[in-house]
Amino acid sequence: MSVPMGEACLEMIGVRQQFGATVAVADASLRADRGEVLCLLGHSGCGKTTLLRVAAGLEQPDAGIVRLNDRVVVGPGVFVPPERRGVGMMFQDYALFPHLSVLDNVRFGLTHLPHPKAHRVAMEALVRVGLAHYAHDYPHVLSGGQQQRIALARALAPHPEILLMDEPFSNLDQRMRERIREETMSVLREKGTTTLIVTHDPAEAMLLSDRVALMEQGHIVQVGTPGELYRHPKSLFAARYFCDLNEISAQIRGGAVATPVGTFAAEGLPDGRCMVCIRPQALSLVGLGLPAMVERCRFTGEADLVTFRPQGYDGVLEARMPPGTSPEAGAVAQLAIDPTGVLIFPLD
Ligand code: ATP
Repeated sequence: MSVPMGEACLEMIGVRQQFGATVAVADASLRADRGEVLCLLGHSGCGKTTLLRVAAGLEQPDAGIVRLNDRVVVGPGVFVPPERRGVGMMFQDYALFPHLSVLDNVRFGLTHLPHPKAHRVAMEALVRVGLAHYAHDYPHVLSGGQQQRIALARALAPHPEILLMDEPFSNLDQRMRERIREETMSVLREKGTTTLIVTHDPAEAMLLSDRVALMEQGHIVQVGTPGELYRHPKSLFAARYFCDLNEISAQIRGGAVATPVGTFAAEGLPDGRCMVCIRPQALSLVGLGLPAMVERCRFTGEADLVTFRPQGYDGVLEARMPPGTSPEAGAVAQLAIDPTGVLIFPLD
């Protein structure tokens, strides 16, 4: 079933949540349209989980409005408790019931279904996460990663219209994570589930989401598609979040920035201090370019990571080059810098 997008399904406006002196969420607004997967991305402690808990009804915010399916669940004089919000949730501690079997844990959210159907749906959810053979065991016999998969199965089984998930794939090893992530996302897409996923991993956010909301110290600082955030970060913070950067402090003068490694266009930017950020993949070898000594090469399989020390620059440039193409350490190379991989942020 594909669901038309464009209608706000989850909307938060001006949410603020303070714990003592700590402002966990400061005036945050976001909306996820129907069927959209929105990732809430940010460093540890920036307020992601708190915002998710506000959406779920596990925190009552100090200020703000929350709407789910056009129904106000938080607002002046309104607070709808979690069990009456009709959203699915999966939190970091998994919150499995220790006295219930794995199957009963998954069946817990399916009490509205007749018993045989609830059983079948729960078993299907367990098959999807590869744990059907543990159906009659208790959660304590499972590893952390297996418990996470059970929590995921429990959250997905009732096919909620809105699903809130906190780092749902964090505790799985890489191969399992890829498999479960793909499986989960295909279920969510097929059902048109509006999903808010908290993660600190930019690669995961880019892979999973239709849009990403980037948080910094309680604020949502940029919202956009993964491509928009990666290619057009609005701030140095956003740029750094998505890519390792070579950073050079410089001055903008008359729409250009001169640095020891080249002059770059800065049209439309005001004169003054700036940070020039060069993506590692913007560097390539050419016949004649910026002379640079090769200081170190590391092989990662997918790319060569090469450290260059350009002539006339009191620093190094880190480059990502196609595997097997990097020169030997100690050689002098000629470098080109692709201007589309250069970002300039005024600092004043
Ligand atoms: P992580 O990725 O580490 O889970 P996060 O981005 O989800 O972090 P939150 O868990 O929302 O961040 O926490 C935001 C801030 O609020 C932190 O400084 C945290 O210590 C504080 N905080 C969160 N919950 C509480 C609470 N119940 N009591 C006091 N402080 C809290």
